[in-house]
Amino acid sequence: MSKGRDMDRREVVRIGAGAAAFGAMTPLLGFPFLGGCQGAEEGPPNIVFIFSDDHACQAISAYGSRINQTPNIDRIAREGAIFQNSFCSNSICAPSRAVVLTGKFSHINGKIDNRADPFDTSQPTFNKALQGAGYQTAMIGKWHLRNDPEGFDYWKVLPGQGHYYNPDFRTPAGTERIEGYVTDIVTDQSLDWLENGRDPEKPFLLMCQHKAPHRSWMPGPDHMRLFEGEDIPEPETLLDDYQGRASPASNQEMSIRDHFFPAYDLKITPPASDAESDQNLWAATYDRMTPEQQALWDSVYEPRNVAFAEADLSGDDLVRYYYQRYIKDYLRCIASVDDNVGRILDYLDQTGLAENTLIIYSSDQGFYLGEHGWYDKRWMYEESLRMPFVARWPGRIDPGTEVSHMIQNIDYAPTFLDAAGLPIPEDIQGESLIPLMEGRRNNGWRDSIYYHYYEFPAVHMVAKHYGVRTERYKLIHYYETGEWECFDLETDPQELSSVYDHPDYQEVVEQLKQELRRLREFYEDETGIPISSANTV
Ligand code: CA
Repeated sequence: MSKGRDMDRREVVRIGAGAAAFGAMTPLLGFPFLGGCQGAEEGPPNIVFIFSDDHACQAISAYGSRINQTPNIDRIAREGAIFQNSFCSNSICAPSRAVVLTGKFSHINGKIDNRADPFDTSQPTFNKALQGAGYQTAMIGKWHLRNDPEGFDYWKVLPGQGHYYNPDFRTPAGTERIEGYVTDIVTDQSLDWLENGRDPEKPFLLMCQHKAPHRSWMPGPDHMRLFEGEDIPEPETLLDDYQGRASPASNQEMSIRDHFFPAYDLKITPPASDAESDQNLWAATYDRMTPEQQALWDSVYEPRNVAFAEADLSGDDLVRYYYQRYIKDYLRCIASVDDNVGRILDYLDQTGLAENTLIIYSSDQGFYLGEHGWYDKRWMYEESLRMPFVARWPGRIDPGTEVSHMIQNIDYAPTFLDAAGLPIPEDIQGESLIPLMEGRRNNGWRDSIYYHYYEFPAVHMVAKHYGVRTERYKLIHYYETGEWECFDLETDPQELSSVYDHPDYQEVVEQLKQELRRLREFYEDETGIPISSANTV
């Protein structure tokens, strides 16, 4: 399983030979041909990176969603490329963002979890390299790395998780509150920067990063009644019993059945009088709204809550009801994201910028939409591991391109550098996706991916684990409990029954362990408990 990967490494070294660490690039490396590039077909491309938070592939129609339509995200895929096997390296918000910026796994860039240690913004990032090469750089929306962005000519970011209604934005000049709905505002601000805030003589990088559809899934005014009176199809595993898997699947705290805040998460109000946390969380979101916003909200949600109280549900019926409340609000948030992707696409088209712009839509990791009875992410299981990735670049990517190679978020930074014509430093762990987008690289790509999740004990209580995924198999090691899981994704795509102990799979398990050892060495991950010292090797 290793030969392709080794070949990849040589290629990266060759491409990166002689390059300084990319944070150290100076304007001397800038383009000699920057002038007048707006709308031109020559010169370095503009890059628009639209990045949402917690948008699972299962809720994108281009990826075969059974539950919603996303016509504008689909348009990027249809007019460009869709990556069918795009994976995260550590499926949680801040770490994924740090990986995207650096092209390095969490154990190298240092941001291993969402907790207090901030991302070290002094390290090299792709946006700093682009800025150093003459790009105008802007970061608008959800930054989520606790400290101020670095390497941007312009930034305007949501503090922390940000708010859905009347969000605050932090800028170098201070904080301001903007009235309205966050997904619309992040786009308004992005379009304003494109139109008025940049030097049209220079190429640009715009990172337009949405809060949505992150918890607590508050829909905007345009889509509050979407799916009213409809039932969204349930996932087959909504009532999963977690048999056939190691103990962490049973011991998590992210189930629809037991771990929602009914008011804050599901908008079932008023909050129960004995649920102080729920009351406080709900009050913090509801009280931000203007009286007009509250009146609209109440007119939509109060009838639902009256009907819920009258139904007096319990047990599995209550789980099914909670699923409907959750998934509809989640999808309503996505409807706004998709509308706003359309606004960016329309602007690029109308101004002629589209011709020389690489536009990418992605999200920081996958998410559970009721599969296995869950919401949230964190796991190396498929729903959480997969990241959407669609890209359009007229003249470079053929419309309708489908890529099946296994990619990861370590590949984004080298892709942006490559798109801009910049060298890829040797210490970047990912690889440029441009050759895959252009259909000119079919050999020597990686045939396995590495994953490592750290945040435990913590909210949702998902055990630490690392693992390897190949085209067909997945091996997961919960190294603190000494447990393993192995899934045959061909025969068990929903990962319901580990074959780790199955006699027919012992050779496969041993090969996967060898590959996992190799990947940990190759990516220089010395964190977690080494495989050799764990039991059951
Ligand atoms: Ca996230």
